[in-house]
Amino acid sequence: MSAELAAELRRVAGAGGLLIALDFDGVLAPLQDDPDASRMLPAARDALLALAELPRTSVALVSGRGLDDLRAVGEAAPGWLLAGSHGQEFDLGEGVVPAPVDEGARADLIARLERAVDGLDGIRIERKPHGAAVHSRTADADTAERAQAAAVAAIEDLPELKRRFGRDVLEVSLSTATKADAVEALRRETAADAVLFAGDDVTDEDALAALHPLDLGVKVGAAETVARHRVSDPEAFSALLAELAALRAAAV
Ligand SMILES: [Mg+2]
Repeated sequence: MSAELAAELRRVAGAGGLLIALDFDGVLAPLQDDPDASRMLPAARDALLALAELPRTSVALVSGRGLDDLRAVGEAAPGWLLAGSHGQEFDLGEGVVPAPVDEGARADLIARLERAVDGLDGIRIERKPHGAAVHSRTADADTAERAQAAAVAAIEDLPELKRRFGRDVLEVSLSTATKADAVEALRRETAADAVLFAGDDVTDEDALAALHPLDLGVKVGAAETVARHRVSDPEAFSALLAELAALRAAAV
């Protein structure tokens, strides 16, 4: 960890109300070819459990996964807040609060994407509460490119759909909510004075770009980012969380 990041960590550890809002895949859990196999690193989970026990300290997972999916792999403890589908669904402890969706438009979108990638090896369409994702992690690079191009062409006449290009995934959504909206909603819910947000993928950049001056944004991995701070991988981020848990315990 850089000296600048260590200093920032000490600063947010002393915030009145602190919200720790984190992307899951690639941040808390190492990326897997099979998304169902993703699990949080034990060190990350231990640190988050400790943080969530502290006064005026909230823990939230902010994922592109649908809420049911996030619940299944995320192993969230009672009291943790969940934002799924990039902020289109929340579980703030009182059950799921989904944004309304046009089911006819969703079915049409899924049908178009399935036709577009039909017969391409290693491409998987995931149905999401507000749209669908075209996964190409298990395809070769050429097939992945053809699948994305075909998927984009299949929805060319639907400019109102939100397209998100992530690592080995194209997500198409009927909702325009982003992870920035998710973090703002969680900030209001928890009345936080400062937010720690970390993410590894393109869709996390919305949230990193919208952070407030007293927040701390951390990029995990080597991809381009607007964040001023970076760690190399989920293992390094777990160490950061453990450090934050110790600093916060001493501060509150
Ligand atoms: Mg991620």
